[in-house]
Order: sequence, then structure tokens, then C-alpha cells
Amino acid sequence: MIVQIKNIVPILQAKWLANHSETTIETISIDSRSLQNGSNTLFFALVGPNNDGHDYISALIEEGVQNFVVTYIPQNLENKSNFFVVEDTLKSLQLFAAYYRNLYHFPIIGVTGSNGKTIVKEWLNFLLSPDFNIIRSPKSYNSQVGVPLSVLAINEKHNFGIFEAGISTRNEMEKLEKIIQPTIGILTNIGSAHDEGFSNIGEKIKEKLKLFKNVSVLIYNKNKTIDSFLNPTINTFSWSCTDHHADVFIVTKSILDKTILKIKIQNNNFEIKIPFRDDASIENAIHCMMVMLYLEYDYKTIETRMELLFPVEMRLKLKNGINNTTLIDDSYSSDFQSLKIALDFLESQKQHKKKTLILSDIFQSGLSNEDLYSGVSQLIISNKINRVIGIGETISKYKSKFSNCTTFANTEEFIANLNVLNLNNETILIKGARTFHFEKIVSALEEKTHETVLEINLNAISHNLNFYKAKLKPETKIMVMVKAFGYGNGGFEIAKLLEHHKVSYLGVAFADEGISLKTAGIHLPIMVLNPENTSFEAIIHHHLEPEIYSLKGLKTFLKVAEQKKLYHFPIHIKFDTGMHRLGFEEENIEELISVLKENKSVTVKSILSHMATSDDIKHRDFAISQIDLFDKFSSKLMNELQIKPIRHILNTSGISNFPEAQYDMVRLGIGLYGVSNDVEEQKYLENVGTLKSIISQIRTIDAGESVGYGRRFIAEKTTKIATIPIGYADGISRLWGNGLGFVTINDQKATIVGSICMDMLMVDVSEIICKEGDQVIIFGESPTVTFMAEQLQTIPYEILTSVSQRVKRVFYRE
Ligand SMILES: *Cc1c(COP(=O)(O)O)cnc(C)c1O
Repeated sequence: MIVQIKNIVPILQAKWLANHSETTIETISIDSRSLQNGSNTLFFALVGPNNDGHDYISALIEEGVQNFVVTYIPQNLENKSNFFVVEDTLKSLQLFAAYYRNLYHFPIIGVTGSNGKTIVKEWLNFLLSPDFNIIRSPKSYNSQVGVPLSVLAINEKHNFGIFEAGISTRNEMEKLEKIIQPTIGILTNIGSAHDEGFSNIGEKIKEKLKLFKNVSVLIYNKNKTIDSFLNPTINTFSWSCTDHHADVFIVTKSILDKTILKIKIQNNNFEIKIPFRDDASIENAIHCMMVMLYLEYDYKTIETRMELLFPVEMRLKLKNGINNTTLIDDSYSSDFQSLKIALDFLESQKQHKKKTLILSDIFQSGLSNEDLYSGVSQLIISNKINRVIGIGETISKYKSKFSNCTTFANTEEFIANLNVLNLNNETILIKGARTFHFEKIVSALEEKTHETVLEINLNAISHNLNFYKAKLKPETKIMVMVKAFGYGNGGFEIAKLLEHHKVSYLGVAFADEGISLKTAGIHLPIMVLNPENTSFEAIIHHHLEPEIYSLKGLKTFLKVAEQKKLYHFPIHIKFDTGMHRLGFEEENIEELISVLKENKSVTVKSILSHMATSDDIKHRDFAISQIDLFDKFSSKLMNELQIKPIRHILNTSGISNFPEAQYDMVRLGIGLYGVSNDVEEQKYLENVGTLKSIISQIRTIDAGESVGYGRRFIAEKTTKIATIPIGYADGISRLWGNGLGFVTINDQKATIVGSICMDMLMVDVSEIICKEGDQVIIFGESPTVTFMAEQLQTIPYEILTSVSQRVKRVFYRE
């Protein structure tokens, strides 16, 4: 994109305050943290419930950004940059995208529906790319912000577009329709996802259908409910496996791991095979086939291309690699847009100073190779990548565009040379088109552990953080509790993400936990809840901040602080208001004040207390009495010492149940990890951890035979048993065995039979189609930790923190 800034004032509906009116815009940004921001960036200062883009403008000006779309000009910046002052920056971003979309006249597919949007988009891209230069939304950029950003990536060379549109509530689709302006519509399906935003299913269908207001054709699975909402003048091209009135009638038949689709269209019949057998994949594949039929592809081409469909990996995965490297696995796609996103992810997650990019040839950029690789080179320079390893014939030709670049003709050649490349102590982004099979590179570089992993969804953590942030007053700070390895989910990686989200504080239980975060490079202030007197030296050395809960502790700390000649070292004073665990009591306050008065070696950074019953309505009066006492004690301390520290008393349940007691900060714990003590609230949280394993072996036993130690399971009939390599040493309670608990295999429940062993457990898979090596879910979406906790008569906290450290944690982002 190249646009003169003076031309865009009317498009944005802006008032223009310019400094240099001749500037051109080449890129759009909404993320202040992106290293891709530069002098030709137009930065939209979006305002969200938790974040205000205007706060970063002054820093961005220092980095060289010159063009901003704002609702007001921050103080003292009037003449420092070009400002477009608008009423609503998101609206202007959308207007700009809609204007830009209008400059192009080629077919554009708009996909919406509850599930399958991204897969349909990726498959269509694969199926149609031999014939078109396709622009598509990267990853699942389908929101009010994602759609404009996707559309703004169109360039002159594209001649076909595929964009997805996702909505979560009323009045969103109309805006997306104006930006995408699809000519071909696909409605994948209507499920129950995001039902909160709509009062009923009809309202949801009507909203989704708004995307298709002006399409030449709508492709959908014929269905009476949808038909009743369709505008009768719309031209449709429908399919069905049950309704003969559909334009295309399909009979499916699964054989082993494939499905045969027998297709009848008008008076023609033909057959295709797809390499899947689950309903969702079959439905997605049919939508893609319908597009090919609509575009009048011949049956033979449809058949040969559909047979090559593949599973789509939409996530960026963070993995531990050999030689202390961190891998970001994006081995399934390579295009310019998703490279930008992956580089931003690399920056936010980099765990080492050194950054390496392993990149394959890039396809379908719509640009000439010369322009494409110049663009890639610029991206790489602005993202401060230290080394590039290019794999493929084309990228090898353009090697001279990159500094510090090694190239290989193909993946095999790279793997053969792995040893001389000397990869160590660095973060490596592995990004390649499917045909390069970069999964082989990931597997060569990945640290080997056993098959049981705890997968942590970093997006879900961000979502949950934002969910709680939205409940807080804008000025309330957040301390996130990352004690016990982030409730078992992972310490450093989560702390890093929280730093990225600019939370105010982290909280840990013991000094060691804080020390390992600080040494790994976390800069956020960290409060230590339970500092032992012997750890004070280390606490000071590592700039951790102790919670002080007794006179004895205070005096010991002061002694160390004075020896070290500290000045105003931050400490946190905890009061006991009823939990009776740690904290100063009323009778200590006078002495506490007299010790702290005149003392210069420490400063009271915050005052806190902890509630015993914030999650339990039954004990509401008690909770309120704790808050009252906290108010009283903390006020006294503040008045007498003439200080204004941060005050905080609420944990997760407190945030929800006692919003009036937010004071200056809250301490978010379990909610961040996706668990709420409240059934209603739980619906709005996303699952963070999924504990997964695989089937090691399957056997069939006869009636009367037994399974496991003590023969506690005796088969009543012929039974198929699968063994899974996870046991009580990994943190699965033995009480969960013997018919109480279950695991999920291929979306079905498999009951645990017999006793759980130290390293293994056995399940009944008589009714489940599965094979050795198949994935097994121990907890996650089903069973949830909350359900397990109820059954085991404990709380989710215990289940989460029990997962042993020998289970590898894998972090990913959707
Ligand atoms: C663990 C802890 C929290 C967080 O509690 P959640 O219920 O997980 O939100 C807050 N404050 C203190 C003092 C804690 O120990």
C-alpha cells in the first residue's frame, strides 16, 4: 500500500493537523510494541476497555513514527507529528479499510459461521492457489480490528480474496460487510459458540446473514431454520446430505481414515475422496468443494486437489529446543502477512537476546520476487533478527538481500548441516510453507521428552486477564499471582506474557520463585508473600519486594536493610483481618507505626490483607467485616505515617463479588488460569491448560480377565483396553481411577479402569474408534479441572498445581 497522507483526511472523516504533509503511508499499525512501526506507518490509537493507544504515542514518536489517528492529541505533542483527529479511531480504521477495499475489483469470498471459518479459508487457499494470486486473512484475523487489517494488506497483484468474519454480538456484521464486500458468501454452520451476545438463535442467524447482503451467491448447508431467515431474492448454491431439494446432494461413506463423498449435481454424479473422517472436516471440505463447483472447475481437478487436503495447524507453538534454545513453531504456513504476525509474536516471547529466523520460500505474495524479498528483508531488519536461515531455491537466489544469512536448497540439506550451524541460547522462529515439511526441522531441534504434555493456551490467558480487567476501574492496578509455577501452568513464559500486557506486579510465594523469574529476565516488580528471614539477603540482591507480616520479620529485615545502607527499599505490609494465616494484628499497629516512623531504609509500597471467604455468599458478612477491618487498619497506618501506598485485598473471587473493595490494586490468581469459583462467570473464561498424552498400547481382554495392580477391574465381557503413559507421579490422583474418572479420546469418554499406576493408567476403549499413538486428553475442555475437583472432593487449585514438573509444558498461541 502506498497512500499520500493528505488524501486520506476525508476517508477517515478526520480533522488534520499536519507537520509534514508530503509523507506517504506504507503500513498500518495498531500495536505500539511492534518493531515494524516506522516513519511510513499510520498508527491508529485504538481505545479498548484495558488499553489506550494514546498512551504510547509519545514513545512511538521517539521511535520515529510520524502519523497518528487519534481522538485527541496528547499533551505537549501538538507539533511533534501528523495527527488525524477523529471521533472514534476504530471506526476510522474500518472506514479506511472499506475505502481501500473499494479500489479493487476481483472476486472475494466472505466466510462466516460458528466453526470452521479458518480451516475453510486455508483449504480454499490451497485448492485455488494454482490458479489465482490470493489474499486471505492471516491466522484467524476475523474481528472488528482483524478484518480491516487483513483487507488493508491487499495489493495490486492479487486477483482473488478470502476473508473470514467473526462476530460475538449484535450490530457487528454490518461493519464487517462494508469492509469485506464479499462477492461469494459461505456460511459454514451455526453452533452455540458465543451465544452470550445474542438473545436467541434467530437473532444470531440474522446477524450472520448480514455478511451476505450483496453477494452474487451464498453457499451453505441447506437447513430449514436458515432458509426461514434468508432474503428470498438472494441467489444460493446449497448442499445437503439429507434434503434432496438442495442444489448438490451428497452421500458420505467413511473407510478407515478416509471419507468418500458421492456427489449428485443436476444429473451428474461423481466421487471424491478426502483424507478425514470426522464430521467437522467433512463439512468444511464440502464447503470448499462447493466453491470449486461454483467456479466451474471440472470434476477431475476437484477430485485430485481435494484428496490432498491436510490438517491445518493454526497455532504458533512455543517449545523448548536443544542447546537452550526456544522454538516458535509456525511450520505450516509461509506468506508475508503471517510472517509479520509471527515476528511480532517472536518479539513478545523472545527468551534470549539472539533471534534467528528459519524461513522457506514464500508463495503467493502477489508481488514480484524482487519486491517480496526486499520487503521481507526490511521486516527482518526492523525486527532486529540476528540471523536468517533461508531454505528453498528462490530465497537462496535472494540471499544477498539479507545480512548474516545462510541458505540451503531444501530441508534435508539444512538438517544434514545442523551441527555446523551451532544453534544455541537463542529464540528461533521456524516458518515455512507446507511443502517444505518444516515439521522435520522442529522435530530435529526439539528437546525430547515423553509424550505427556501440558499445553498452555497463551491467548486464553490474555483473554482471561482482559475479562477481569474489564471488571475493574480503569485506574485499578493488577498484581497477578504466579506462585507455584503459575498455578502449575508455567512460571517464566506466563510472567513474560504478563509483562507484555503491562500488569503492575507479580506475586510469588517464596523467594526462590521470584529469583528464578528475575534471573530469567523478568523486569516487573515481584512481591514475595512468604519471605523467610534467611532469604532477605537474596531478596534484596534480586530486587524482590518482601511482604512483611510480623514485627519480628520487620525488625530482621530492617537490620539487613540498615547493614546494606538501603534507602527506601520497597516492602509490603500485610494485616490479618480474619484469615488468621499471616499478618499484623490490631494490637501490633502502634508498635508497627513507631518502628516505621522516621525509618528511611524501607518504604511501605503497599498494604494488603487476604480474604477467607470471598468466593462464598454464605459468608458475605464475614467478608465485609474483613474489608472494614482492612479499611480501618490501613487508614490508621497511612494517617500516622503520612503515606499513600497501594492498598489491595481482593483475590479472583473478590474481584467478582466485592467490586467496591478494589482499592488501588487487586491480586488475580486462579481466574487468569481459566477457573472461576462461580458457575456463571466460568462461561466467560477460556480454558488455559490441556493435559495430553497418547495411547501407548491397545489390547483386547476376555470376560473374567483383570487389569492392573490388585486386579481391581475384572472385565464382564470382551473389553478393549488402552494404556496411557501418565500416572500418579505425574499428578493424577489415584482416587481418579477404578471407574470414577475418565479421559477423552477422539471426542469420546473412556473410563479409567483398575488402579492408576505410578506412570501409567488404563482405560476402556471398547466403544471408541482409536489406535495406538492417538491423542488422549486427561483434562482441559473435558473433563474440566473443575469437574475433576468436584468428583475428587477437592478444589481446582490442587489439581492444577499437582501436575508434576516432569510433564513438559508447551505454550501456544492460536
Ligand atoms: C494465592 C493468593 C491470591 C490469589 O488467589 P486466587 O483465589 O487464586 O485469585 C491472592 N492473594 C494472596 C495473598 C494469595 O496467597
